[in-house]
Amino acid sequence: MAHPCGRFAPSPSGELHLGSLLAAVGSYLAARHLGGRWLLRIDDLDPPRVVPGAADTILRSLEAHGLLWDGELLWQSRRREAYQAELDRLRDAGLLYGCACTRRELAAIARAGVDGPVYPGTCRAGLPPGRGARAWRVRVPDADIGFHDAVQGDQHQNLAREVGDFVLKRADGLIAYQLATVVDDAFQGVTQVVRGVDLLASTPRQLYLMQCLGLPRPDHAHLPLLVDGAGLKLGKQTGAAGLDPRAASGNLERVLTALGMPPAQDMRGAPPAELLGWAAPRWDAARLAGRLAVAA
Ligand code: GLU
Repeated sequence: MAHPCGRFAPSPSGELHLGSLLAAVGSYLAARHLGGRWLLRIDDLDPPRVVPGAADTILRSLEAHGLLWDGELLWQSRRREAYQAELDRLRDAGLLYGCACTRRELAAIARAGVDGPVYPGTCRAGLPPGRGARAWRVRVPDADIGFHDAVQGDQHQNLAREVGDFVLKRADGLIAYQLATVVDDAFQGVTQVVRGVDLLASTPRQLYLMQCLGLPRPDHAHLPLLVDGAGLKLGKQTGAAGLDPRAASGNLERVLTALGMPPAQDMRGAPPAELLGWAAPRWDAARLAGRLAVAA
């Protein structure tokens, strides 16, 4: 069996906040619980979304919270050749096609799926006359893709019905998240993907790409999202505050409590490394079974 290995993959579009800390801590504990490694990847593939200095702030914040990663950092912005090589393999296998459709055209005709419009297959049999390829899509099968999620239970999705052929290379020339994450998880030897439940619906697309590329399939656990009193996700979009590193122990206690493991009274105020060391042997994804949201 491959050596257990987890990862945290923040997008440097802002500071680490309590919601992203929960994903970091969950993935860290799940890996350490198995005596595994915990890696860090910076998802900086999308230049317009990258905030200058954010990656560095995230790294310092993780360190302040005792979340020390193993090995080298992986920057997605430096992996373009690796992604292109895998894209070429899919193209050579006849799985890709060029697509001329614009977002606006699709919005007018496509029905809504689990993650945006379901691609109606307009360019599947060839580009319409006079139109050029903007993006590259992968053909998906009309079959259920199933997996077991350690938190959310058994899952299945029919890609053809719920997503449609999806984009791997975008009209702006950038590689799509779905392909980049699959290529990187395999490259880093990740055996367990632990992340927020907002990415649950992406997983069948990623499993399908792993299957097409012959990559090993990691285990999955999709953690509940941290919500505020009004039930709103704590995130960059809701203006969640960046974490104060001087309050690291208190932040960790809040997150551990949300994850169903409130630190014992005598652990309160302990340094981050001690809190994490206390929590790792106690990690159990089943404690969160079926939870989509937890209160901060
Ligand atoms: N970079 C993604 C995010 O911050 C996470 C990717 C993943 O964990 O697969 O939402």
